[in-house]
Amino acid sequence: MSAYHFKTKSAEETMSFAEKLGSILQSGDVLTLAGDLGAGKTTFTKGLAKGLGITRTVNSPTFTIIKEYKGRLPLYHMDVYRLEDSDEDLGFEEYFSGDGVCVVEWAVFIEEHLPEERLELVISHKGDDEREIQITPIGKRYEERVKEIM
Ligand code: ADP
Ligand code: MG
Repeated sequence: MSAYHFKTKSAEETMSFAEKLGSILQSGDVLTLAGDLGAGKTTFTKGLAKGLGITRTVNSPTFTIIKEYKGRLPLYHMDVYRLEDSDEDLGFEEYFSGDGVCVVEWAVFIEEHLPEERLELVISHKGDDEREIQITPIGKRYEERVKEIM
């Protein structure tokens, strides 16, 4: 399970890379997004949503924790930052085993609820508008997704 790397020089580039990934995702796919505040996790999800055919504006779900969007497949966009010191379970298992696509920002805070197989993304700052996106597929289905876009 090797990691792949992709560099972007603007928010737009991150979004178009994410859009490409979004266009090939399938029912039941789970993605985790790690990276500091302002790294681009939500920006990435905006692009992903476009690739899923979602036309509504995607905003950070920090306060609601989970937001749902309708597209080619439903998108469940989660930001579980606020669960850092809590073991609250908002029904995660059902989302992860459902028919939609799940994207989880700060997934480390709900580690115990995550499915074993998932696509792990880490976004790091590399300068003003430069970012590196590290992609680690865990499981065969995710290796296939990565092969398709890289
Ligand atoms: P996070 O969800 O990780 O806290 P956001 O996506 O909300 O981060 O914010 C990222 C900010 O960085 C946005 O204002 C975005 O426009 C900006 N940005 C600049 N360059 C990039 C890039 N290459 N990729 C993603 N975002 C970028
Ligand atoms: Mg965010």
